[in-house]
Amino acid sequence: MYFCARIKKSHKKNNTMASNRTFTMIKPDAVKNGHIGAILNQITAAGFKIVAMKYTKLSAGKAGEFYAVHSERPFYGELVGFMSSGPIVAAILEKDNAVEDFRTLIGATNPAEAAEGTIRANYATNIGENAVHGSDSNENAAIEGSFHFAGVEVFA
Ligand code: ADP
Repeated sequence: MYFCARIKKSHKKNNTMASNRTFTMIKPDAVKNGHIGAILNQITAAGFKIVAMKYTKLSAGKAGEFYAVHSERPFYGELVGFMSSGPIVAAILEKDNAVEDFRTLIGATNPAEAAEGTIRANYATNIGENAVHGSDSNENAAIEGSFHFAGVEVFA
């Protein structure tokens, strides 16, 4: 079985080199609430180029693998249930300094703390159902992109 061995934030290497790719998902809450178009528009207006994209649905097993790094956290079951509850949009995005700039664009995990105008401030429901995912490191961006896309599905 393929395992999405993402690296825990606390275990990350101190990688200061900027990468030009990140990985995102528009989560089931934002899809259900009709925000796909608005979110993609905000992403491209901020200068990100979509190099891979698919409308898909995670099984509970796949959602569990993707979020395995959080398996010890109290919200893990809720997170896996939510992420497999409906369709998502998965995409690989390209821009200089992509990981950091995309995290700025989406805002804090908890939308109540997200800066005004960020995607989570605009479209998230709550800390769990927070509209979008954004990779937290260059290493995880590469791992997460490969989890969802084959090489032939990425168009640079
Ligand atoms: P981020 O997505 O901002 O990198 P984390 O990696 O800490 O945040 O968490 C992954 C996802 O787990 C969050 O985006 C959110 O959907 C969910 N989550 C995080 N913290 C909580 C919480 N306290 N309660 C419920 N769900 C949470």
